[in-house]
Amino acid sequence: MSHCSSELIIMVVEENDVKQATIVNILKAIGLHHILSVSSGQDCIDMIKNYPLPVNIVFSHLDMDGMDGIELLRHLGEQQLAESFALIEFNDFAILRTLEDMAEQLGLSILGCVEQTFTQENIEMILDRYYVHHNKSDPEEYGDMPTQAEIIEGLANNQFITWYQPKVQIDTGEWFAAEALSRWVHPERGMIYPTQYIPVLEELGIVDKLTWSQIHVIAENLRHWLSLGKKISVSINISPSMLNDRLLANKLTEVTNRYNISQDQMVLEITESMLMENLANSLETIARMRLQGFTLSMDDFGTGYSNLHQLERMPCSELKLDKSLVTGAHENPVRCVILESNIGMAKKLGMKTVGEGVETVEDWFILKQLGCSIGQGYLIAKPMPANELLAWSEEWSLRYTKIINDQK
Ligand code: C2E
Ligand code: CA
Ligand code: CA
Repeated sequence: MSHCSSELIIMVVEENDVKQATIVNILKAIGLHHILSVSSGQDCIDMIKNYPLPVNIVFSHLDMDGMDGIELLRHLGEQQLAESFALIEFNDFAILRTLEDMAEQLGLSILGCVEQTFTQENIEMILDRYYVHHNKSDPEEYGDMPTQAEIIEGLANNQFITWYQPKVQIDTGEWFAAEALSRWVHPERGMIYPTQYIPVLEELGIVDKLTWSQIHVIAENLRHWLSLGKKISVSINISPSMLNDRLLANKLTEVTNRYNISQDQMVLEITESMLMENLANSLETIARMRLQGFTLSMDDFGTGYSNLHQLERMPCSELKLDKSLVTGAHENPVRCVILESNIGMAKKLGMKTVGEGVETVEDWFILKQLGCSIGQGYLIAKPMPANELLAWSEEWSLRYTKIINDQK
């Protein structure tokens, strides 16, 4: 069942009257009130321009007389007329990947394809994806960007906290690790997400302040979980500038010694772009961290930021397959091929693979089928405060059993 809000504004562009009416009726049955419909790309542009509110999703055929769907997509993006796009009756996945990249460049997202059978379930899935992409359940994402001064003040006042997103073994469902993700609890604005402040902290050259305070909190939590008999590892996102610090490994070892936890409980996530700053320093730091027993993980693999070439010089033992490859992979044979070859290559190199962005049972089973070792994503859990993890793990073991049984 979709959790969509009746407030969404939808545009349907379809030449064929019967198909147009079918889609509009399904959207109405789902409970949407604001549905516009037209039969050409040009009409779509004209109507949106005269409509008082921004359009959230445009459903359109690609193959149309006059302006085709690709041109429509470009106009919508360039003129910022809509937020996202769904393709009606389209099933060429190689072209879909190109269109997704094109849309991303234009600041739009492609939510998926309406199958020829026109089912309510399929359309609900597209609407659900809109919420995931646009994080609409988190309205703060859409507030004004915080200023540099506010960010510095927030840091000085310790307003940043650490949340955890569980990582589980795909073979068994076992919870054994988590990724630390920071959150800013602003006294007036509420929760602010890292994409709104990490780049600013990086630019100001002070992201290490945030990371170090986080590392102490993580060490304390790891100690606490150990005392409860739960040995897990935590992944920490390391910004590029931190790799320039040749003492990074030694400082991390001091922390693990102080809290009496082992080095292999800390996984450091890095991306390719990081190595660019000062390659010699970065490689020295990386080699020393590995030598001292920390685990290294290549983040966002499969995006422009991490690629095959990097693996040659990076002693990583884990490869994180980016969510843009994983989410919705079962619908896209091209992505499945890319995933399969990345997973196979990682295996040959003796690396574990983590599939990020596992949002549905279908995502889970495709990763399982392709031999991916670890899963992370909203299906398993959204990021949460440390004190909720144990209760989540109980709920998850029941849910995992059900997922497996339902599949049989
Ligand atoms: P990332 O390292 O790729 O982290 C994963 C992001 O994907 C997180 O976003 C997480 O909430 C989100 N995510 C997890 N599962 C799913 C899913 O199933 N579907 C979708 N659509 N998204 C999912 P978040 O927490 O907003 O963090 C964004 C980025 O900010 C992170 O991307 C990471 O690069 C950076 N970041 C977060 N915390 C820190 C930090 O403490 N230090 C540094 N240097 N960077 C951080
Ligand atoms: Ca990460
Ligand atoms: Ca990532």
